[in-house]
Amino acid sequence: MSDLAPVIVCDELKKSYGPLEVLKGVTGTLHQGDVVSVIGPSGCGKSTFLRCLNRLETINGGSLEVMGIDISHPQLNQKVLRQLRSKVSMVFQHFNLFPHLTVLKNLTIAPQKVLKTSESDCRDRALHYLEKVGLGDKANVYPDQLSGGQKQRVAIARSLCMKPEVILFDEPTSALDPELVGEVLGVMRQLAEDGMTMVVVTHEMQFAREVSNRVLFFNQGIIEESGPPAELFNQPKSDRLKNFLSRIKNSNS
Ligand code: ADP
Ligand code: MG
Repeated sequence: MSDLAPVIVCDELKKSYGPLEVLKGVTGTLHQGDVVSVIGPSGCGKSTFLRCLNRLETINGGSLEVMGIDISHPQLNQKVLRQLRSKVSMVFQHFNLFPHLTVLKNLTIAPQKVLKTSESDCRDRALHYLEKVGLGDKANVYPDQLSGGQKQRVAIARSLCMKPEVILFDEPTSALDPELVGEVLGVMRQLAEDGMTMVVVTHEMQFAREVSNRVLFFNQGIIEESGPPAELFNQPKSDRLKNFLSRIKNSNS
């Protein structure tokens, strides 16, 4: 057990879309500074799980606490939602930048609107984080003028501008050309080293192995197996995980 504060506590979390039960009882605790990789076959509920954690979805059963805020209830007031969104930030596969806004404006809009941070503080913060992801010279360009890897680094800087307690990454490198994957993983590795709490859905097994302290293997809506990466990758217990790992290995070679 870690003595650091729990950031996310979920217990028997369930989520259905109509008759389709996607999450069938997910239980786990994430502590401050944890870097957790989520792996598993397509369609097993990884994205749905992340979306529940920042309340892009309401859950149908079980309990979910984020930074001490109970977000299980089907109806949450705006104040609680704003509080949650300022603590939990998300980075998507397809970046989700506003194409009609400059990089700088993409970074300042949410802190200004949601956190009510002053314009000049937002700007300073944005420039600081752009520098941190190696894009200090791109503040005034539009997203279309950037490569995929640069766009994703902007999206990470945008997340950081919210000063989140935890960042959720949903396959952040899956939409990138292979030669651009490394620059994004490099930024994420640096964040992990700086102590950021992170949940990363990924197919990058080397990243999961080297950067995360825990790996969750999702299968058919439950956590089928979890543990430190060395254990999970070197001594998988379930046949499903063994099969999954061998399929990934073959597709990467
Ligand atoms: P993963 O990220 O592991 O590939 P998802 O969480 O995206 O899986 O999806 C899990 C299952 O839920 C899939 O069968 C998918 O089709 C279904 N699903 C996801 N989002 C929705 C939605 N908004 N409405 C209906 N079904 C959905
Ligand atoms: Mg997904």
